[in-house]
Amino acid sequence: MPVPRTSAFPAGPPGSAGPVGRLVGALVSPILNPILSPLVSPLAKSLATPLAPDDYLGLIDPLLSARHPAGRVVAVRPECAGAATLEIRPGRGWAGHRAGQYLPVGVEIDGVRHWRTYSITSPPLAEAPGRTLTITVKEDPGGRVSPHLVHRTRPGAVLRLGPAQGEFTLPEASLPSRMLMVTAGSGITPVAGMLRTLARRRGGRGPAPDVVLLHSAPGPDEFLFRAELAALEAELPWLSVRARYTRTAGRLVPEHMGVLCPDWYERETWACGPEGLLDALERHWAAAGAGERLRVERFRPTPLLPEDPEAPGGRVRFEHSGVEADAPASVPLLETGEAAGVVMPYGCRRGLCFGCLAPLVHGRVRDLRTGELHGEPGELIQTCVNGAAGPLALAL
Ligand SMILES: Cc1cc2nc3c(=O)[nH]c(=O)nc-3n(C[C@H](O)[C@H](O)[C@H](O)COP(=O)(O)OP(=O)(O)OC[C@H]3O[C@@H](n4cnc5c(N)ncnc54)[C@H](O)[C@@H]3O)c2cc1C
Repeated sequence: MPVPRTSAFPAGPPGSAGPVGRLVGALVSPILNPILSPLVSPLAKSLATPLAPDDYLGLIDPLLSARHPAGRVVAVRPECAGAATLEIRPGRGWAGHRAGQYLPVGVEIDGVRHWRTYSITSPPLAEAPGRTLTITVKEDPGGRVSPHLVHRTRPGAVLRLGPAQGEFTLPEASLPSRMLMVTAGSGITPVAGMLRTLARRRGGRGPAPDVVLLHSAPGPDEFLFRAELAALEAELPWLSVRARYTRTAGRLVPEHMGVLCPDWYERETWACGPEGLLDALERHWAAAGAGERLRVERFRPTPLLPEDPEAPGGRVRFEHSGVEADAPASVPLLETGEAAGVVMPYGCRRGLCFGCLAPLVHGRVRDLRTGELHGEPGELIQTCVNGAAGPLALAL
């Protein structure tokens, strides 16, 4: 599915405060943050109508807005060729994350906001010093957002942040005694977040799981975080890092597992990398009867069906917003609503997280992944993967 994508989502607080605004924001937000909550009282809300008090705070500094979470880039660190780590100080609206989760990032380029998804490579804020999180972006030279983040984003830039999400995470309760991470290319990012979290928690002491990281990269120069991981491996007796370089050893295939990690099928496993590798790993694990021990994270969302000129769209009414718009059949209702200026709930924008659910008042929708028609009054519709199938109304 070609989203997260360009969005006409009404800006709320603009993502690009001027230099003076940024300076003022940087100075005042640490002071104002702790004293803001009482301000956002029912009285303040009634005085601020039709805007919310939060909207005014967001105008002072985007980081003060709880309704439209944002973060300020405080550092950009080059990684290996074509990749960079962005250190971001999230504002008031940031609700935290679990190790391994990803977040939608809204980036303004030439006045248009684009949304993309990035894994969080830093430990949860509660477990890390400072109040920053990191993402590591590998440039796709033909892409729109990743080259901007890697090459043209400077400290001080403001990014919109969606809520952290995803279940490709470290178990919350007890950790398995043996873990295997299989990663390739930029697929190492969520695992880096988990390993950094484990390293911080364990610090090399106490009972720790036995963790094997098996990473594939074209060569050592393209191995993201290689020096840091080598240092962690030297320090932490429970961590073993095994690299496989495709330029010299060929592609990593599941059949190599027996040599690279002989007890692979007994380990709880996390895998992230190119689709072909993940598909092959899933088949291999399933064939060994170990399918339930394998979790995968895919950077490519499920594709939507090609546009169907025969499928009728419809007029959609957003009941609470009082907005109506024509909804083409093959366009997700989320995009139709955002383009019409409706404040739409959203999440991963790829049909996984259910963060975009909206109750259907009447009408029918089409699942843009399967073509299935459905819709009963009151049904919760995933607006990011459903288009209109005739006139309909949503309770938004
Ligand atoms: C859960 C998740 C986690 C992720 N984590 C990370 C991470 O930690 N690090 C990371 O680097 N990436 C990550 N990604 C990938 C990231 O979200 C982006 O997809 C990636 O950065 C590319 O975005 P882009 O805007 O540069 O490219 P896009 O503009 O989205 O383009 C992608 C490709 O499509 C091609 N393309 C675009 N439009 C067209 C068109 N009209 N016709 C033909 N081809 C076209 C482009 O040439 C390009 O090669 C993650 C993705 C997911 C889903």
